[in-house]
Amino acid sequence: MIYTGECFCGGVKYRIEGPLRRPRICHCSRCRKAFSAQGNAYAEVDPDRFSWTQGEHLLVSYPADGTPGKRFCRVCGSTLCGVVGGRVHGVTLGTLDQDQGITLEAHIFMGSKPAWDDIGEDTPRFEEYPPNW
Ligand SMILES: [Zn+2]
Ligand SMILES: [Zn+2]
Repeated sequence: MIYTGECFCGGVKYRIEGPLRRPRICHCSRCRKAFSAQGNAYAEVDPDRFSWTQGEHLLVSYPADGTPGKRFCRVCGSTLCGVVGGRVHGVTLGTLDQDQGITLEAHIFMGSKPAWDDIGEDTPRFEEYPPNW
């Protein structure tokens, strides 16, 4: 399988020639802050099968000291990947261009999700915005 992805502004692009492993959404407090979102939709990749195809010079690593963290586009702020040991560990599912063949395996760290993070079945669902929004 070949996947491609890019940041919000399109300045940074990547390519994965191989499987996405352990697709999941992490609801922990660290991921909520790191990804400024409800959680982090993410899958692991083989770093040898991952390559930046455009705009690698636009990437910023955080933390900068080489501890596990993430890389984001300095122009638009999109977080594209997680980094462990200086190598790409996985990608954010939201930056992928494709969604076929990806099935979430787990919601993780549900024990530390906030009360408003409701992924239950009772919440009303809409294809787009609710009509009165
Ligand atoms: Zn960007
Ligand atoms: Zn997390």
